[in-house]
Amino acid sequence: MSSTSSLKRSDLTIPIVLFAVFWGIAILLWLTTGRIFYLFNFGYIGAALAVGLGVYVALPARKKPLGRRLAQFLVGAYMLLFLGLLQRENMQIEGFFFYLLAGIFAGSVIHYLVAKVAGVLIFNRGWCGWACWTVMVLDLLPFKRHKTEPLPAPWWGLRYVHFGLSLGLVALLWWGLGYRVQEQSLIELYWLLGGNLLYYATGIVLAFTLKDNRAFCKYICPIPTLQKIPARFALLKIAGKADKCTDCGACNKMCPMDINVSGYIKNNQRVLSTECVMCLECVNVCAKDALFANFAVDKVRNSSHSF
Ligand code: SF4
Ligand code: SF4
Ligand code: SF4
Repeated sequence: MSSTSSLKRSDLTIPIVLFAVFWGIAILLWLTTGRIFYLFNFGYIGAALAVGLGVYVALPARKKPLGRRLAQFLVGAYMLLFLGLLQRENMQIEGFFFYLLAGIFAGSVIHYLVAKVAGVLIFNRGWCGWACWTVMVLDLLPFKRHKTEPLPAPWWGLRYVHFGLSLGLVALLWWGLGYRVQEQSLIELYWLLGGNLLYYATGIVLAFTLKDNRAFCKYICPIPTLQKIPARFALLKIAGKADKCTDCGACNKMCPMDINVSGYIKNNQRVLSTECVMCLECVNVCAKDALFANFAVDKVRNSSHSF
């Protein structure tokens, strides 16, 4: 494993790589499909994320989370309002399945493939930390640093049940009732609105019940089902210097996904947990500058800290 970047030291490696990858995709899709929409769409998202990361790098430690909030709103609001409400793309996971079945190369399909599957191999679950429109709202709630223990293992399986139910519903409608998705139809818009309202309502109730803004991400959201395998092999992860770590535990307490960050660092590993959403809260809170984010390839070995 090699240390290649440290956001705390104002290294702009990650925003530059991210900007370059998104603009590469934008130009490639524009040239191959002839649709200038792709140039605008991916160019905008890459620029918005790079700006958010750049602001994160530039701000002093206490204010750094504002950079992430900025990126969340620039990307999340754009996708929900422009792609969802104006373009009537069903961005819910069921919409992704429907468009796939219909062979429609819609924005929703590209979004899922880039942000939630292939892109995870490079940027890990950065989507969940920096761009998701559900957490854009849930992160406004007052339980950023939850103080209760996470729920036991069976609860973490609910997301797989949710994924299975979504897939089953799509299969029933498609093969059982002959439903066929239509681009930019009102039904897809209602599905998007209804699905999102349900997500927001469930997320808010869970956050207040469990005193945890990220409870919806941990227990209910089906998206990690797609992300977890590529996340294990992601190039971008949190790394650390074991000799600098004093085992103070601040990173573990700050982590919104309940990851034993210091356990990985003491074990001379990067944070291999596929729950990591690359929010950088652990990096920011470490008073010893022991943590940083870097691009590297991890050796395959057993880890007692992995989910
Ligand atoms: S787990 Fe789901 S709700 Fe949470 S940030 Fe990721 S995609 Fe959004
Ligand atoms: S905050 Fe830093 S010093 Fe403290 S346990 Fe985490 S990595 Fe170690
Ligand atoms: S390990 Fe660090 S970057 Fe990953 S979710 Fe926890 S606090 Fe965020």
